[in-house]
Amino acid sequence: MPALGLGTWLADPGKVHQAARHALEAGYLHIDCAAIYGNEEEVGQGIAEAIEAGDITRDELFVTSKLWNDSHKPEHVRPAIEKTLDDLGLEQLDLYLIHWPIAFRHGVEFPQSREDYLTLEEAPLEETWKAMMELKEAGLTKHIGVSNMGPERLQALAEVGEMPAVVQVECHPHLQQRELLDFCNEHDILLTAYSPLGSPGRQHKAGDEPPLLDHPTITSIADELDATSAQVLIAWAMARDTVVIPKSTNPGRIEENFGALDVELTDEHMAEIAKLDKGYRYLDGEFFADEKSPYEASKIWV
Ligand code: NDP
Repeated sequence: MPALGLGTWLADPGKVHQAARHALEAGYLHIDCAAIYGNEEEVGQGIAEAIEAGDITRDELFVTSKLWNDSHKPEHVRPAIEKTLDDLGLEQLDLYLIHWPIAFRHGVEFPQSREDYLTLEEAPLEETWKAMMELKEAGLTKHIGVSNMGPERLQALAEVGEMPAVVQVECHPHLQQRELLDFCNEHDILLTAYSPLGSPGRQHKAGDEPPLLDHPTITSIADELDATSAQVLIAWAMARDTVVIPKSTNPGRIEENFGALDVELTDEHMAEIAKLDKGYRYLDGEFFADEKSPYEASKIWV
């Protein structure tokens, strides 16, 4: 799995087609998608054009997508990947993830009331996982994994079949995920770091940590290495042997982020950045754990 990929969440329709196209031309070998991002058709166009232009072959490219929360019932899993494959214009994914350990009634994109949710007793993740294993056997995806889960859930899934190959979670200097990373290293699971720049494009809440890109430790390392803050954050993720998927639809920033492959942090830099861990989530799961939800935020990432 290529260590650096292009994120596509909140990549505006009309922009993400060119972003995918540009990234593949610039050398990216990996794109992170999801059905709920509502832009897989456009990403697919960018991929098709890059293949057509000879910038990349399908075999060189690694494409990830994710099963949305309304399709956890085993009978909805295969139709969901088929829709994603159709939208992306691909015959097989490289990696398909269960997006969240949270289930909605079929057809609900974002819940409006308690009735829009299913509990984990009504839609057990273990059953969804068995359906994911069938997708792999059917050749619709090469690998399967999960997102927004921790060691307890990973272990429970392994007990009904195979261990997830990848776990994709929020990870950056303020949320270093050391316990999960140790578990992954022990069980041969790859950790993919999402929101590696602290997701600065998202609407932030009062009381959020200031943007990571402006943190003095990060900016001073960037100055020392003649790099940018974004490159330091991306290089930090790769130096920890995690996969990292910064999102950009801006051609200059897409190239800048790719340039992180040439940035080498020293042990001293890594030690400085290690001190920034606060267990702080920019994406705190509040949107799935408000008063109408049967889920509790503190139990999402177990
Ligand atoms: P990131 O941390 O990647 O930040 C993206 C934001 O940073 C955008 O607003 C982008 O703007 C800006 N940006 C990108 N590059 C630079 C740069 N070099 N300098 C300054 N600003 C920059 O946040 P995301 O939350 O998007 O996370 C990355 C990807 O991870 C997502 O796109 C998605 O694919 C995945 N993800 C998965 C989740 C899950 O539940 N599994 C949840 C969240 C994310 P611009 O586009 O204008 O450059």
